Amino acid sequence: MNTFKVTPYSVSGKIDYDKLIKDFGLRLVDESLIDDFDFPHKLLKMKYFFAHRDLDKIAQFYKEHGRFAIVSGRGASEHIHLGHTLLFKFVLDLQKHFNAFLFVPISEDEKYFAKQGLSFEDARKYAIENLVDLVALGLDMKNTEFVIDTLTMNAKIYGLAAKIAKRITLSTVKAVYGFSNEQNIGLHFFPAMQAAHILYPTVEKDLPSLVVISVDQDPHVRVSRDVAEKLKLFKPASLESRFLKGLSGEEKMSASDPYSSIYINDSAKLVRKKVWRAFTGGQPTVKEQKKLGGNPDICPIYEYNALFFDTFDEARNRYQRCKSGELLCGDCKNELIKRLQKFLESHRKEREKAEEKVSKLLEE
Ligand code: SF4
Repeated sequence: MNTFKVTPYSVSGKIDYDKLIKDFGLRLVDESLIDDFDFPHKLLKMKYFFAHRDLDKIAQFYKEHGRFAIVSGRGASEHIHLGHTLLFKFVLDLQKHFNAFLFVPISEDEKYFAKQGLSFEDARKYAIENLVDLVALGLDMKNTEFVIDTLTMNAKIYGLAAKIAKRITLSTVKAVYGFSNEQNIGLHFFPAMQAAHILYPTVEKDLPSLVVISVDQDPHVRVSRDVAEKLKLFKPASLESRFLKGLSGEEKMSASDPYSSIYINDSAKLVRKKVWRAFTGGQPTVKEQKKLGGNPDICPIYEYNALFFDTFDEARNRYQRCKSGELLCGDCKNELIKRLQKFLESHRKEREKAEEKVSKLLEE
């Protein structure tokens, strides 16, 4: 029997996304919904964002009122990697397309509670580093607010978290997250803070929130929806992605294996090394590859090229050429290395400008 686990604090086993949809009570993102939402983004069409809650209601609200809010943040405990980058670039496209208000909560406190060995100071340091990266990726502060929980928390958010905490019981938290008595009370309290982040635009701006997350974060949305009902607020909607494959071929990049992910601060040399070591869906020899073709469905090199850099049509073409044996893994890897090195080099330059902006924002 396939046993797998997906929670905000632990992901393991071979993930069955269909089962996850059923177990979590999600709905599939299908063509008609993409049409109705009027946002034919490549990551929706390629089913990277594969599941949702009430996206149809957000589409309807937008048709009637011309606005909604997006909530998408970071649990900061390390530098961001390509999975975070992909999600955040999607968020920025979404914000731009709909001119939506964006709220970005950075929850280094959650990681501090959850991760053994992570000091408070390091969690905070990564929170700032992550914000710099998000600004370098194009975060526009005109229609955006952010909070770094232990640095810039305000009374409005904490007040909301207090109201929410009174409406969540310990047994709910244990049932939804699987927490035990041995875990610290910071972690038990955090769902209230997370729900406050999610509901903040609703309370402050009277806008329904669309939470854009990877699917392991869904329990936070479930708790927030229950609380929203109790507080007579719009229930938050969500758009949820699957996981970006790890370079070693695993279903999700692993924090314990530095070679399974590309980090935003990796050097050009390290990127080359990581990609050359990566697993592929190719055959053991060129001769067999040409005869039998490869398997792009299990290939992280295909996924990174297709999701990050190709257009939708280019990705489809790459898929066919891999299957037919026309494409060779060495060529694919070389192409990915060049594209990643170029992207990371340009990010490094943007980051220098972003550092100054973030210092000013934090002073303010
Ligand atoms: Fe992956 Fe490219 Fe090899 Fe196909 S040819 S298996 S896409 S690396």
